[in-house]
Amino acid sequence: MTTNHEALAIVQAARVKAIAAFPYLRRGLAALKLIPREGLGTMAVDPQARVYYDPATVCEWGVSLTAGVIVHELAHPMRLHFARAIALGVTAEQARAWNIAADAEINDGVLTGICASHGIALPKGAITPALLGLAEDLLAEEYFAAILAGQQGREIGNPGGGDGEPTDDDKPGNPGGGKPKSKIQQALEDAPDCGSGVDGIEREHDAQDGSSEEEGMSDAEVRALARAMARDIEIHEQAQAQLGRGEAAGGWGRWARQALAPAKVSWQQKLRATVRAALRQGSGAQDYRFSRPSRRSSVMGGVIMPSLYSPLPEVAVVIDTSGSMGDADLTRAVSEVAGVLKAAGREATLYSVDAEASAPITIRKIADVRLMGGGGTDMRVGIRAAFAAKHKPTTVVVVTDGDTEWPETRYWGKATVVACLVRKPWHAPPAHVVTVEAF
Ligand SMILES: [Zn+2]
Repeated sequence: MTTNHEALAIVQAARVKAIAAFPYLRRGLAALKLIPREGLGTMAVDPQARVYYDPATVCEWGVSLTAGVIVHELAHPMRLHFARAIALGVTAEQARAWNIAADAEINDGVLTGICASHGIALPKGAITPALLGLAEDLLAEEYFAAILAGQQGREIGNPGGGDGEPTDDDKPGNPGGGKPKSKIQQALEDAPDCGSGVDGIEREHDAQDGSSEEEGMSDAEVRALARAMARDIEIHEQAQAQLGRGEAAGGWGRWARQALAPAKVSWQQKLRATVRAALRQGSGAQDYRFSRPSRRSSVMGGVIMPSLYSPLPEVAVVIDTSGSMGDADLTRAVSEVAGVLKAAGREATLYSVDAEASAPITIRKIADVRLMGGGGTDMRVGIRAAFAAKHKPTTVVVVTDGDTEWPETRYWGKATVVACLVRKPWHAPPAHVVTVEAF
């Protein structure tokens, strides 16, 4: 009991100390929900900005170290490390590497400098770019790539190695290269676990939603808080710049500038989001059919599955193979579409439309797409063919250079037609066609 009281006093004092050192992080630090978890052995955070601490560990750490860890943990949900891990496709096996990468992004020279000058300490062995032998000022994604590359390099260079003990390469005096690799290997072995706030993978100690006492912030609140903090940091940096001090907040400053900049969405992101939205829309628009047996019945070994099912939306991809499109343009756009469909577990019907053919050719694989030459393609032919098919698609993606006419009316009802333009079109598609500029 006394440990818990003592720990509570320490985390509260640590929060105050952290705010004094990092006034521009005040909102975030004040908003963190600090939740005791006996036996956790460390401090961790979740995407809802709840920080879990082991009372015994905190008592061992004391105020100075606890303050450092609180500042560190705040950064994970504020910089959306959990969402970035998901976007990057970080697997459970790679979670340690990602945690280290995210830590290296946070613990830059400016942060450690400010901590030192305010009597705040980071735990021994805290992951910094220097500790990994990597450059400062990179993003977690970049550190992650370097760490994975380092791991692979080690495996190649040390074919017999496996789970064995860390060996001679880690000792100084071994001139045989791979020093950064050993640093990375060591960091992976001592890897911290900063919790689900880093990778989005739920931990046992995470509070359950709906428990009022441990209620975290909603996603919208986390994002709103992050934006408010970003503005505070911007003001701080401007004030420091007037005093002639650049890089006042280090990685936090870069983060704030990025958070406040109007979101620059790449065409790939837009295309993915558009196709995903169309797929969702399509599945919602489908009628539920009661009489047809589930598709799965045939593979369930005689077990009759319920006959109520929601069919997957059908997707058609109409590909412009006229000569006015460059090979590379076509490939990147089509492979992007293919990636989305694969991720969604959908197969698409592919139609190849060129200047010669009056009717599109149905092809099986994207690899079968060939440029036909010519020019002056009419993609309306492909769209019409797609909607005339036996299994009507709910989504038709047209990959083209835009050198085509478009249907004048929206004759496809609730379905969606997406125009993925690889070049500035000579005239824009009409409003009833969703347009993605992939150039
Ligand atoms: Zn961390």
